[in-house]
Formats: sequence, C-alpha cells, structure tokens
Amino acid sequence: MKQWGAIEAGGTKFVCAVGRGPEDWREEIRFPTTTPAETLAQTVAFFRRHQAQAPLAGVGIGSFGPVDPDPASPGWGRITTTPKQGWTQTDIAGEVGRALNVPVGFDTDVNAAALGEGRWGAAQGLSSFIYLTVGTGIGGGGMTDGRLLHGMLHPEMGHVRVPHDWQADPYAGCCPYHGDCLEGLASGPALQARWGDRAADLPPDHPAWQLEARYLALGLVAYICTLSPQRIVMGGGVMAQPQLLPLVRQQVQELLHGYLQTPQITTQIDRYIVAPGLGPRSGIAGALALAMDAAG
Ligand code: ADP
Ligand code: ZN
Repeated sequence: MKQWGAIEAGGTKFVCAVGRGPEDWREEIRFPTTTPAETLAQTVAFFRRHQAQAPLAGVGIGSFGPVDPDPASPGWGRITTTPKQGWTQTDIAGEVGRALNVPVGFDTDVNAAALGEGRWGAAQGLSSFIYLTVGTGIGGGGMTDGRLLHGMLHPEMGHVRVPHDWQADPYAGCCPYHGDCLEGLASGPALQARWGDRAADLPPDHPAWQLEARYLALGLVAYICTLSPQRIVMGGGVMAQPQLLPLVRQQVQELLHGYLQTPQITTQIDRYIVAPGLGPRSGIAGALALAMDAAG
C-alpha cells in the first residue's frame, strides 16, 4: 500500500505526518518553527526515518506565506516575502524534494486546508468553495470551478479592507502592513489587544463576539460577491467559540439584505457557512491530498 508524507508548515509550528489516507495515519510529529535550517532538517529527518522502512510516493506541503505556488515560475515552492524572521526566500519545497527524492505538492496552508475539506470534509462534491481560517492571522483559500485559487500569486483574503467605525470601535488594528484590515481587526491577537483578555477567555456573551461576527461577515460578503462560492468553511482557533458561527451567519444575511435570493443564503445558511468537516485536521489532510496529486 502506498504512503505519502504531509507537512503543515505554520509560522509557529510544523506538523509532519505519514499516512495512507485521511483516516489512516502512521505517525505524526510537531515541533516549533525555528530557523529554516533547523526546521527543515527536523522535517527531512522524520521522513527519512520512514523512507528507511517503506517508500514515500510523494510529499505535500501546505505552507504559511506568502509563497510562490506557480509551477511555471522559477521561484515555485518558496516562501517569498514573509515578515517571519529568517524565512524570506526559503525554498521549502525544493529542499524537501531534493533531500527525499520524491515528487512534492506545494500550496498555501489555506489552499491545502481547502483541498482537504473539498476531498474529504465539508466541501465534498463542490467545485467552488472557500476555506477561511481565523486564528493568529486570517487567511483564505479555496477552489473555483474545481481548481485551487492562485492567479497572480494566491488570495490574501485576510487583508481585505472592511468598514471600520472608529467611534464604535476605536481599536486601530494590529496588521503590520495595514492596521485595520480584516486580519488587523478580527484575528485572535486583535481580539486580545482590543479587549485586554485572551480571546479564549472572553465569555460567550461578551460584546466582543458581536463585533467579531460583524467584521468576519463583512469579509465573507466581499468574498460571496466576488467569488460566488457554493459554501464557506470557517476554521482556526477563534472559530472554536461555538456562539460565533451563528452570529456570523446572521450578520451575512443582514449585510446582503435580501439581494441574493438563493436557498443557500435565505433558508439554508446553516449549511452554507459551516465548520470544517475534518475539524482541526483539514490542513494536514489537505497536505496529504497535495502529495497524492503530485505523485499522480
Ligand atoms: P494559527 O493561526 O497560529 O495556525 P490557530 O488557528 O489555533 O493557530 O489560532 C490561534 C489563535 O486562536 C490564538 O491567537 C488565539 O487568539 C485564538 N484562539 C485559540 N483558542 C481559542 C478559543 N477557544 N476561543 C477564541 N480564540 C481562540
Ligand atoms: Zn493586513
């Protein structure tokens, strides 16, 4: 039976796993993201240990970014202009592929998660959908007409600008590039900076959650109006708040104001804006799917 390697390359931690399918994992390890040299050496050592027992048909990488996901570009497989210290222009896919001598599939962390959800999770059978993570940052990926979203680079859905009422919400936002873009206003660190408590510690009836839902819904409405996704999957640490998803759905309906008369929006919004079917495993499962696709 074939097995593949999967890498969820995050800005704070790496997850490396070997699996034969989304429900058949052999081993998984996680370690903090330090320097590229140290982190990639740990990654390669893990997979080499497996290769010593059985071949790997391929490896898939869902990476923090920005990255170059264009196979036709000389920079393919690199992390490009990341603010993360030391990681600028790291050829992550190239190094892993050369060290292990296997085909490598490479995409953004959120496109990988979207692919996982599309193949095995909450977006199965759909050709156009979005996966949005709301965590340390906000990022979105997805598919349109059966292809992962790329284009000029790849979507940066967290950095859309949303209306910011400075009277109602004087918090300036925490995005180092834009201040009050969506990520600057609604990421986990933004919640903590605005309210002075860790997002996880804010009680469910705290006004933070209404405001959070408003900002997230403003983002979703922009994506709905530009990409017309058939479903939106929302993951990430902040979405662990169970009261948040229903608030977001309500706000999306309110903001669209009856303009889109599709059942997805009007009567079935509970099935339109949903939690990940794979829970916290969308990203690693998606990396496995990238590996399978790269191996053909
Ligand atoms: P990352 O984005 O770093 O990959 P996560 O998606 O787990 O990781 O997001 C981490 C962020 O989510 C933290 O900054 C924290 O603010 C927030 N978070 C974690 N758990 C919760 C929770 N239970 N409720 C609200 N926010 C949370
Ligand atoms: Zn920004």
